[in-house]
Amino acid sequence: MRRVLLSFLFLTLIVCVASAQRLPELAVPENYQLTFTPNFDKDNFAGEETIRIRVLKPTTEIVLNSAEITFDEVSITSGGMTQVAKVTLDKTKEMATLAFDKEIPSGPASLHIRYLGILNDELRGLYLGKDKDGHKYAATQLEATDARRAFPSFDEPSYKATFDITAIADKNHVAISNSKLISDTPGPGNSKHTVKFATTARMSSYLVALAVGQFEYVEGEADGIPIRIWGPPGTKQDGKYALDISEKCMKYFNHYFGIKYPFEKLDMIGLPDFSAGAMENTGLITYREVLLLLDDQKASVGLHQTVAVVIAHEMAHQWFGDLVTMKWWDDVWLNEGFATWMENKAIAAIKPEWHLELDDVDQTATSLNVDALKNTRPIHQPAETPAQIQELFDGIAYGKAASVLRMLEAYLGPENFRAGVDEYLKEHSYGNATADDFWKTLAAVSHKPVDQVMPTFVKQPGAPFVSLQTQCSGGSSKATLAQRRYFYDRQLFENGNDELWQVPVCMKSAGQTGTPKCVLLTKKQDEFSLPGCAPWVMANAGAQGYYHTGYSSDAIRAIGRTAEKDLTPAERIVLLNDSWASVRVGEEQIGDYLALAEGLQADHTRAVVEQITQQLEYISDRLVTDNDRKSYELWIRRLLTPMAKELGWQPKPGENDETKTLRAAVLHALGYAGRDPEALAEARKVTEKALEDPGSVDHTIAFTAFSLAARDGDQVLYDKVMDHLQKRGASLEDYYLYFSALSKFSDPKLLERTLEYAVTPAVRTQDTLGLISAVMQNPAGTKVAWDFVRSHWSDLEKVGGGFTSGEVVAATGAFCEARLRDEVESFFADHKVPTAERTLKQSVERMNYCVDLKSQQTPQLSSWLEQRGSSSGQ
Ligand SMILES: [Zn+2]
Repeated sequence: MRRVLLSFLFLTLIVCVASAQRLPELAVPENYQLTFTPNFDKDNFAGEETIRIRVLKPTTEIVLNSAEITFDEVSITSGGMTQVAKVTLDKTKEMATLAFDKEIPSGPASLHIRYLGILNDELRGLYLGKDKDGHKYAATQLEATDARRAFPSFDEPSYKATFDITAIADKNHVAISNSKLISDTPGPGNSKHTVKFATTARMSSYLVALAVGQFEYVEGEADGIPIRIWGPPGTKQDGKYALDISEKCMKYFNHYFGIKYPFEKLDMIGLPDFSAGAMENTGLITYREVLLLLDDQKASVGLHQTVAVVIAHEMAHQWFGDLVTMKWWDDVWLNEGFATWMENKAIAAIKPEWHLELDDVDQTATSLNVDALKNTRPIHQPAETPAQIQELFDGIAYGKAASVLRMLEAYLGPENFRAGVDEYLKEHSYGNATADDFWKTLAAVSHKPVDQVMPTFVKQPGAPFVSLQTQCSGGSSKATLAQRRYFYDRQLFENGNDELWQVPVCMKSAGQTGTPKCVLLTKKQDEFSLPGCAPWVMANAGAQGYYHTGYSSDAIRAIGRTAEKDLTPAERIVLLNDSWASVRVGEEQIGDYLALAEGLQADHTRAVVEQITQQLEYISDRLVTDNDRKSYELWIRRLLTPMAKELGWQPKPGENDETKTLRAAVLHALGYAGRDPEALAEARKVTEKALEDPGSVDHTIAFTAFSLAARDGDQVLYDKVMDHLQKRGASLEDYYLYFSALSKFSDPKLLERTLEYAVTPAVRTQDTLGLISAVMQNPAGTKVAWDFVRSHWSDLEKVGGGFTSGEVVAATGAFCEARLRDEVESFFADHKVPTAERTLKQSVERMNYCVDLKSQQTPQLSSWLEQRGSSSGQ
């Protein structure tokens, strides 16, 4: 699945009270014959299934997973004898026990079940959706544990089987599923047709997919594989971009992997109601509509990139996840880490002009951020209940696993890594594998100690802080590297710890042109020799390491002085991140970071500038006091105005995408953290223009303009935005432009209206909690949103969504006050969210560290700004 979405799209929250345990090992499925007949008058579906099973030992019962299913008729045939079952349901375990009078011998048997399911509005199982014209459709979302809502099943990833799927659909509806259509015949009756699909490859139950409704498509192909992009009526044109990207991805992956696309065809569909970002069902990938379909001429650079990256992620899953699947959910990182690692890699190759490889560095920083918490978790994490399994789809399974894989790829070399991956996929095709299987294969292929290195990153929580000291003697240098676990908790960080990593470290020196010196740090502290005596050494050359580097303030300053010449853009981002990491734990002063940022002001690399502007906005929100506000704003303006002037608000003809994105970031920070009057006035002007004529403003800058205009916006502007939001005919991107602007106002009265609006039927349930979370994260909205959450909790906890990690709980992590922290703790102690237990602990920690950072760095910031102000004569 793909969970990271556009900033204005968030996951929805659901409270899952069920606890599950594994199925007893009595039988294994080999083939399912499934027939679904949706009934859109009653919002339910009739199901009929025959499961060919192999009974493992003589038994009088078979246990299946089942939830919200009403059993009608259940029988088993084995050895030529058919007997009817007595069905006992265990709602808590989501299991059905089928008991038989006579013992069933080991060997082949066949279960036949007729049942009734619900087309629910919870966006999981086989659920009910509606397009903007009110047409109903049914679609599946079965990961992680919701296949059992669509059909009684052995709903664990290791029970792979083949599937023969049939849909009996209304005449005006189409049906698509995992495999190719083999027949479409009229009937039963005058109003239906029967659509049969070919037998699928062997796969896990959570990858079964079906969509039934009014949809249309564009089609193409790549390497002989037919590809179709589907959407609701009227969206055909908007599928063309996705088609182009998916054809290119298909060729890229076919070339990269030693195995050609393993399924016969690929369908992808954009659905108006969808809980996650996208889902990698074998041969039929489902997406949120906005993450697949766009107007290629008008859409923003950001949306183009997001759609491309999500497509690459889901397509990569066809190999990682679908062809080879983790044995159990504790290794879900083998799915998500790989798909996340591959998404930017593929798109960086297809669209090199976007430089997505630089965003990998940012992804690593984001993951290190989670790993700085006491309540982080190891990549490999036991989980048993659906709620625990759900919570595993987090920044560790996605971002950290991807970052660690990137480090491994750099350590082995891309070709060695690829050879190992191919071998692993070949060995386990159509089967299941574990983390051990993965690194054993890689170690065997590469002849490097992958099976020693990887467990230190996969089985231990946290990340190393590698400090570097250099000493010159006799014309060469001695580099001393020491490691300890990095914690935001300064006490823990200082006290040291037991964790020990095997860290691949690459070092480069000032003015060095050759290959960096790469070593494996396996001890707490070790010494390495480097040629020559350069003024500085940088200890994450290539920017691929999953660790922080600790330098002395002098060393950071020295590197900073020649960073633009001697470091790559990726290495400059790493240096900025490392400097900030040292500020967070009090090893450096905030002024050191700001001076480093200042020293890089001639750097126009989009990703470097974005790293800086985001940090400056964070500082503005959390660390700048009222007293310092004016001088901070002046400093920001001095820093950013030259670049802003150069870029202007209007895109120039023939300008590249990087420049467009750079403009959006610089002008946003200048208006947001710098409160630059000119930028703010221009933002309002551009917003008014875009409201008058949406086609007249470049979409990439529109998000910046709306965000700034809303912050200072009055009721008149609010009403206009709301008016446009409710108007039909806006593109989906425009819809979300208006939608996200509603959370950015400063007036609490207006934000209250946004919160009330979020729970009206006008907002799709998939978007409700995202809007509320966005208000929570707006410093002006914290109080009003938190009050709203508490007073509306009984409604909010019911907001549907099959794929969730407690978005509201996560959003509290943005609060930065001790009083709010206490309130959050006590509120969620009384209102438990089982899918967000770890998330809650993490949020509380984040609030604590923010409060700590404030008390520690605010005086520093104050004196640094004063110094800067007087030295520049202001
Ligand atoms: Zn995924």
